[in-house]
Amino acid sequence: MAEQVNLTGQLKRYFGFDKFKGEQEAIIRNLMSGHDTFVLMPTGGGKSLCYQLPSLIMEGTAIVISPLIALMKNQVDVINGLSEDDGVAHYLNSSLNKSAIEKVKEDILSGKTKLLYVAPESLTKEDNVDFLKTVKISFYAVDEAHCISEWGHDFRPEYRRIRPIINEIGNAPVIALTATATDKVRTDIKKSLGIADAKEFKSSFNRANLYYEVRPKLKDIDRQIIMFIRQHPGKSGIIYCLSRKKVEELAEILKANEIKAAPYHAGLDSATRSQTQDDFLMEKIDVIVATIAFGMGIDKPDVRFVIHYDIPKSLEGYYQETGRAGRDGGEGICIAFYARKDLRKLEKFMENKPVAEQDIGRQLLQETAAYAESSVCRRKMLLHYFGEEYSEENCHNCDNCLHPTTKIEAKDALLVVLQAVAAVKENFRQEYIIDFVKGRGTDDIVSHKHNDLEEFGAGEDMDNKLWNPVIRQALLCGYLKKDVENYGLLKLTAAGKRFIKNPESFMIVEDREFKDDYEAETSSEGSCGALDPQLYSMLKDLRKNFAKKHKLPPYVIFQDVSLEQMATMYPINMQELQNVQGVGAGKAKRFGKEFCELIKKYCADNEIERPEELRVRTVAKKSMLKVSIIQSIDRQIDLDDLAEAKGLEFEELLDEIDAIVYSGTKLNIDYFIEEVVDDDHVDDIYDYFMESETDDLNTAVEELGEDYSEDEIRLVRIKFLSEQAN
Ligand code: ADP
Ligand code: MG
Repeated sequence: MAEQVNLTGQLKRYFGFDKFKGEQEAIIRNLMSGHDTFVLMPTGGGKSLCYQLPSLIMEGTAIVISPLIALMKNQVDVINGLSEDDGVAHYLNSSLNKSAIEKVKEDILSGKTKLLYVAPESLTKEDNVDFLKTVKISFYAVDEAHCISEWGHDFRPEYRRIRPIINEIGNAPVIALTATATDKVRTDIKKSLGIADAKEFKSSFNRANLYYEVRPKLKDIDRQIIMFIRQHPGKSGIIYCLSRKKVEELAEILKANEIKAAPYHAGLDSATRSQTQDDFLMEKIDVIVATIAFGMGIDKPDVRFVIHYDIPKSLEGYYQETGRAGRDGGEGICIAFYARKDLRKLEKFMENKPVAEQDIGRQLLQETAAYAESSVCRRKMLLHYFGEEYSEENCHNCDNCLHPTTKIEAKDALLVVLQAVAAVKENFRQEYIIDFVKGRGTDDIVSHKHNDLEEFGAGEDMDNKLWNPVIRQALLCGYLKKDVENYGLLKLTAAGKRFIKNPESFMIVEDREFKDDYEAETSSEGSCGALDPQLYSMLKDLRKNFAKKHKLPPYVIFQDVSLEQMATMYPINMQELQNVQGVGAGKAKRFGKEFCELIKKYCADNEIERPEELRVRTVAKKSMLKVSIIQSIDRQIDLDDLAEAKGLEFEELLDEIDAIVYSGTKLNIDYFIEEVVDDDHVDDIYDYFMESETDDLNTAVEELGEDYSEDEIRLVRIKFLSEQAN
């Protein structure tokens, strides 16, 4: 039958398109001639048409299994809009009431319905199965087929039951479609659907217009993001965060910096969400800050950047999400921020999951980490992950290709690795192999008696940093491969075996260095501006004069960090001054004027262009806890009671109060001090701080001596700072 049909004519007739995209036609012909079909096509490649068109032509009803209820309705509306008749496409899912279901069944039995979308949960319902048994099925389409595999990024257990149900309803050809399929996922899909012999149609996953970059996640990440957005004014972008809380926070910060941004996550009500989506499509909003819940259904062709605030849980997810940039073939900048700390956080989240799931999750994370840390072409790594060879030397469109590192010879190291893999019978994973070559007798290695092997510790004297990049690049170059059945086990390829017999040059790039802790670091790349030493020392002098005049220690006027920020950000009015760390409204009012004047004059004298764009406003990040502490103190709640009510140790409460006071907010805790600290002690401690050069607690404890408890000192310091500094 397939041969006789003029498919192009039908394409034009139903969809109004003049020609097929990619392999659509071959796919449709394969399906129509009764064969199982497997379609791997990137997002936006045109998968839907591969089942929609044949369903309209073929006899019977096609069943489309699809995970997203929202998308189903949308697709059904589109199809119904294509033909004169309303009942051509229907869907069955939990959102329909009884009478709607009756209507659907009626249309199907009358032969009108060519396409029936079902959620996997509905497909497996007994009523529906019994009904469908009576219907002529043209074929089954399984869209988003990666949901079958735990190794994909959105595993749906119900997808596993598709094959048995098909057998029950009645056999017909199956077409499975997905945009994300590593070898492992692909094997899982075929096995689970029982379509081992399906003909595979795979388009390239390369998105040449997308630029990939990974940046270390440092303390100034918000600033970096704001700078980036300001450098791309009016462009549409998406920023993905892993938690709803972060989504809300970042959206606030962006808005405070005059960026048209909105948050989007599953915790918002649906009216708000669809409003946000519309605003984004209509370009009333430039930037969406979202959890991964965003983007599935929307098709905005000119998204110009996708930023990952947190490392994604898998490369599949990463690829999907970045895939939403530059669909029109134009610019698409994809930046991911990476810190090992985030990796550990994600691993921790998995700890209460079943062991097998944890193991999978961890391996997927490892793949993402490898991607982030490597200096190899990002495109090459991504495509390799999806089972595709990218043979260009330099893609000219990723950070690693634009800033290549020098290569080093790793012939000996590779030999050590390959021999180790062979020695342990190709039955172990990367981490095990690395321990083995380093000669680390872990419990695991000892229990396998591998520490007795001759190859054990063969790489002892080599640079430890080498092993990960050597193994990864050996995988990329095809000396090693990862087993599909037992994912992660390293196997030798034919090329790997040849190398052992006949080693040859193996040039690799070393990994990039990542600091372990982003909280202590900021990026040096100009983005936060450099401290102006001359201005800094002028500000210090001014502070000294002030201190003298007001008979206060200098740190009470402004802390050093505040001066440093002033010498970096050049604030020249009260508003701007309050963006400086440790400067609240009270402090700005009391001391700010002269400082702003000095900075203003300094900028004018030295023709300094104030880095207008560098000024990043922070939102008052008073956590709920802090707000509630401030309110409780206003109501004169005993601090002991307050600590208990908040589930804090007394010292922890003092830490919170310190933080509040040091950020410039005045607190009056006299009511409590009067109760618990002797009057003379209050005076002594107060006087001490008045005279002291530092507010450091340990120094105070030492200077004041044993008569004064640490808590007393801290309480009076809070009083002192509140009264004198804020
Ligand atoms: P996928 O499911 O692979 O992500 P879709 O099926 O949603 O992609 O198709 C993406 C876009 O491509 C849709 O807007 C669709 O109308 C369009 N499209 C599909 N096939 C063709 C074609 N042959 N000619 C022109 N546009 C097409
Ligand atoms: Mg699709």
